[in-house]
Amino acid sequence: MHCGFCLPSCPTYLLWGEEMDSPRGRIHLIKQGLEGEPLSETMVGHFDRCLGCMACVTACPSGVRYDTLIERTRQQVERRHVRSPRERALRAAIFALFPYPRRLRLLRGPLWAYQASGLRNLVDRTGLLRRLAPTLATLESLAPRLTRAPRPPRRVPAYGPRRAAVGMLTGCVQSAFFPGVNSATARVLAAEGCEVVINPERQGCCGALSLHNGREEEARRFARDLIDAFAAERLDYFVVNAAGCGSALKEYGDLLADDPAYAERAAAFAARVRDLSELLVELGPVATRHPLPVSVAYHDACHLGHAQGIRSQPRELLRAIPELELREIADPELCCGSAGVWNVLNPEPAARLGERKARDVLATGASLLVTANPGCLMQIAAALPRAADASGPRSTSPRGDRGMALAHTAQVLDASIRRLPVTRLLD
Ligand code: SF4
Ligand code: SF4
Repeated sequence: MHCGFCLPSCPTYLLWGEEMDSPRGRIHLIKQGLEGEPLSETMVGHFDRCLGCMACVTACPSGVRYDTLIERTRQQVERRHVRSPRERALRAAIFALFPYPRRLRLLRGPLWAYQASGLRNLVDRTGLLRRLAPTLATLESLAPRLTRAPRPPRRVPAYGPRRAAVGMLTGCVQSAFFPGVNSATARVLAAEGCEVVINPERQGCCGALSLHNGREEEARRFARDLIDAFAAERLDYFVVNAAGCGSALKEYGDLLADDPAYAERAAAFAARVRDLSELLVELGPVATRHPLPVSVAYHDACHLGHAQGIRSQPRELLRAIPELELREIADPELCCGSAGVWNVLNPEPAARLGERKARDVLATGASLLVTANPGCLMQIAAALPRAADASGPRSTSPRGDRGMALAHTAQVLDASIRRLPVTRLLD
C-alpha cells in the first residue's frame, strides 16, 4: 500500500521532506534489501534517522507493522554494517553507560558539583562546550537539575487492605536522575492498596535501549536478568513508569520466544506488565484525591501513546483530580525528538523537534507540563527556554521565567493524594 497517510505524522519527513526519510520510503528500502540490494551507507543513514516513534503505526489505515520492520532492520544493520570509527566509539560509549544504573548513579556526584558551582551558566553563556564537544554539550544540556536520591526500599506495604502485589521497575535514567518519580510511583501504588516489591539491589536495565537499537542479544541478556530478579516473588502485576521501558517489557514474550529456558516465563512476565496509569485505571481508585488548582498540558510519550496505545488512562487520572484543568497540546502525535538516545546521536534535528514541541506546550498557557517518560521530560525541559526566547516575552510560562514546571503523572497523583500544596509541583 502506498497511500501516504503516515507521512504528515512522521517527524523526519516533516524535517527534511525526503521520501526516503518517511515510513513509506523506509519500507521501500527494506523491500529493496529483502530483494538482494546490498546495505549501503545511504540506506543505513535513512534507517538511523528514524526515531522509532511509531507515529506511522498509529496513522497507517492498513495496519502495516512498521515497528516490527524497523526493529528487524536495525538488527540487520548492527550485524552487517561497519560504522565509521567515530560512530562506533560514540555508540560503544553510549551502550557502556546508559543501560547501567550503577554507572549512571556514579555520574551524580560530579554532575551535582558542576551544577552547584555555577559552571553550567558559564558554559551556557559562552557556548564553548558546543564548539569543542557537541555530543558532551548535548548530554550536558539534557541533564536535569539533580535532587536527593534516597535508596528505594525493598518493599512498600499496601495502605489499607491489600488489593494486589506489584513489582516495580526502577529503570536506569529514572533511578539515577528522577528518583522522586520512583518514590511517588511507589507511594501512589501503596495508597491504592498495592504491596510494592522493588528489590532495588537485584534489578538492572530492562533492555529497552538495546532492543530499540538493534542489539537484540544484549536486550535478551537484560530481559533474562530482570525476569530472574523477580522470579521468587508472587506478583499480580509488574508496573513500569517509563514509556520506552514499558513497551519493551511487553515484548519479552517475543524477544525470548526461541529460548527454551525462558520462553514460557517471559510470556507470563510480559502478560503481567502494566504502565502505571494503565494499572491504576484497571484497579479503580480507592485513595481520596485532594484539589490541585493547576493547569496541566499533558504530553503523550511516543512509546506510551503509539507503541502501547495508552492515551486515555493518564488523562482520566489527571481529570479526576479536583480543580486540575487539563489542556491539550497541538499535534500530540508528533515526537518531541527524544526517542531513547536519538537526541544524543542526532543533536541538531532533535533540538529542532524539541523546540517545535516546546512552542506547542507554551501555547497551551498551562503552568505544568506532565508526561510519563524521563527522556521526554529532559528533552522538553531543555527546549522550553530556547522556544520561549525565540517566541518573545508573550510566550513565557505563567511562572514568568523562560522555563516551565515539569512533572511525571505519578508526581501529580502523589501530590493530590498526599494533599501537598501545588507549589511543590511548580517550584
Ligand atoms: S517511526 Fe517515527 S520517525 Fe520512524 S518512520 Fe515512523 S513516524 Fe517516521
Ligand atoms: S505505511 Fe501505511 S499509511 Fe504509510 S504509505 Fe504504507 S499503507 Fe499508507
